Amino acid sequence: MSTAQLTIDLDAIAANWRALDALSDAEVQTAAVIKADAYGLGIAKVARALAAAGARRFFVAVAEEAWGLREALGPGPEIGVFSGHMAGDTDMIRDLNLVPMLNSIEQMTRHFEALPGHPFGVQLDTGMNRLGMEPAEWAAVRGLVLGQGPRLLMSHLACADEPGHEMNPRQHATFREMTDDAGVPRSLAATGGILLGPEYHFELTRPGIGLYGGLPFEEAQPVVGLELPVIQTRDIAAGESVGYGNSFVADRPTRVATVSGGYADGLSRHLSNHGVLFWGEIPCPILGRVSMDLIGVDITHLRQEPKALTMLGAPQGVDDLAGAAGTIGYEILTQLGARYVRRYARAHA
Ligand SMILES: *Cc1c(COP(=O)(O)O)cnc(C)c1O
Repeated sequence: MSTAQLTIDLDAIAANWRALDALSDAEVQTAAVIKADAYGLGIAKVARALAAAGARRFFVAVAEEAWGLREALGPGPEIGVFSGHMAGDTDMIRDLNLVPMLNSIEQMTRHFEALPGHPFGVQLDTGMNRLGMEPAEWAAVRGLVLGQGPRLLMSHLACADEPGHEMNPRQHATFREMTDDAGVPRSLAATGGILLGPEYHFELTRPGIGLYGGLPFEEAQPVVGLELPVIQTRDIAAGESVGYGNSFVADRPTRVATVSGGYADGLSRHLSNHGVLFWGEIPCPILGRVSMDLIGVDITHLRQEPKALTMLGAPQGVDDLAGAAGTIGYEILTQLGARYVRRYARAHA
């Protein structure tokens, strides 16, 4: 077998949820954002692990993501939908008992007409200009909507990963202006917002990336490991090249391992001649271009023939790899390939 192996530590995800939960007061509820297949790690397994750790409230981006999820979680936990109530969502919202975060007057009309009395929340735009009702729009319908008993009023921070950014207090103030005296539970903070401190927590926090071991939650336990099997090794002489386009040419005798994995598995072509894999603690530079399924790696300095090399693990976390690939941890996780064999490590399954 030569497919790469992705190991996902469910205990680490549970521990990260508990650690983020402990950063807010006991009365503040901590939800879990499991959109995009739990950031690429497998929504059903991750959701069950988080529910076992104590999470009672979950969020997905779109209603379709809740299909397998409701079955995995059972009837109790609440599942919120950030995209709200879109045309065609009504059956899913009713049958899977989802709580749409309504983003516009159009969505409100649709929801109140199609599913009167069905729970909902409201998403407000406090400056990110992505989703949610604008202040003026909200002011116009606020009384009417509050009369329908929303479960939650929420907004999202654009710059929470930069604690000193003036956008944070600005959005905080706008959120308070829009929601003070509403008498409804509120939520503003994702992972970055939790770290900004208690005034950002309100009644509910919504961490995502921190659960999966990514920045800005520096104290996170690492969650993913990725081992790429070595398919073949060879010795090349000075002047010989490796991979497409001859972009690497050896300046001395070099031992090259060809490992299984490439850009089809979410390993960016930006890592070409630039990224490193590890053998234990020893870095092994990528030689030449990352191709669709294969990567050439310099193992000249290893004493042994490696069976596999580490792309993600103790020596290189998700954000280290993201740095080398010119992206962010979020993108590394959500691009993890479908081809990987996924192994879920869990002390108490
Ligand atoms: C993705 C998302 C989150 C989680 O954000 P992280 O930065 O991953 O913690 C929370 N709220 C909304 C609205 C989101 O889109």
